[in-house]
Amino acid sequence: VTARILYGKPIAAEIMTEVKIRSEALRSCGILPHLAFVMLGHSAEAEMYAARLERLAHRAGIRVTRIVLADTVTLEELDRAVTELNDDNGVDGILVQMPLPPHLTYEDLSAIISPRKDVDGITIENAGRLYLGLRSGVASTAVAMMDILQYAGVDPFRMHAVVIGRSQVVGHPVAELLLHQDATVTVVHRQTPDISVLTRLADVLFVGAGEPRLVTADMIRPGVVVIDAGINVTPDGIVGDVDFEGCLGVAAAITPVPGGVGPVTNAVLLRHLVDSAEQRPR
Ligand code: NAD
Repeated sequence: VTARILYGKPIAAEIMTEVKIRSEALRSCGILPHLAFVMLGHSAEAEMYAARLERLAHRAGIRVTRIVLADTVTLEELDRAVTELNDDNGVDGILVQMPLPPHLTYEDLSAIISPRKDVDGITIENAGRLYLGLRSGVASTAVAMMDILQYAGVDPFRMHAVVIGRSQVVGHPVAELLLHQDATVTVVHRQTPDISVLTRLADVLFVGAGEPRLVTADMIRPGVVVIDAGINVTPDGIVGDVDFEGCLGVAAAITPVPGGVGPVTNAVLLRHLVDSAEQRPR
């Protein structure tokens, strides 16, 4: 058996077609959807990410502005810069480059971005709304993973979903989203003694661990659907958290890395941006 490969590109393209239509409708009403990307210092990785996001955004008629601060920026300075963006009615979304420099914490950041402009679900209010099952900004990666599942034609209702990882950007939000769709959810993490006992029970397996080829073919059961958010730079190139080649022979469907969750994440982020632009006070 060879698994169906769940490529991200066509899904991202479909999302972007919808984003473009909505963005054009907004522009015809005089609203130019606008994302502010706050960069902390310069890194080749962040520059590449910004350039890719800008290209995608421009094709859909979305403006992206880079705000470049030093990576030594104090919390007060960052707060001032973000507050300015919060108060600017022409800005619909604020994205701050991750990972943060070591002197700033995720908690610091989650307290200063306006929840209305929080297109990547990092604020306390949006995390609380997600927990309560209310409409909220949710981390784009987690939403992208759920979108891929939906495009694959899989409804997690009454299924056993196993999530590897419990971070704020991947594991935790994806587990909440799965619960909202009536899946039975098991979350495993670094302190779980033997994850394979649980991964073998999964109907759908969501992975966001940051460990190359953590999930091997012997850890999954035939017919499982595997969604891998992992991005690991190795001497063999970029690989996911799942041994893709090995699992191809066991799973029913599986996302590749690269080319799976990654491209869908960017499209989802821009969809969140147009959601916000549609809510812009007029
Ligand atoms: P993180 O380090 O914040 O969290 C990793 C989680 O995985 C932790 O909860 C940890 O307990 C768990 N974990 C790690 N090793 C494990 C193991 N051996 N067994 C069980 N659990 C283990 O990382 P993150 O920010 O959530 O990122 C996870 C991965 O997803 C990384 O590879 C990252 O590059 C990738 N990522 C991808 C996207 C995307 O758009 N595709 C976005 C964000 C992160």
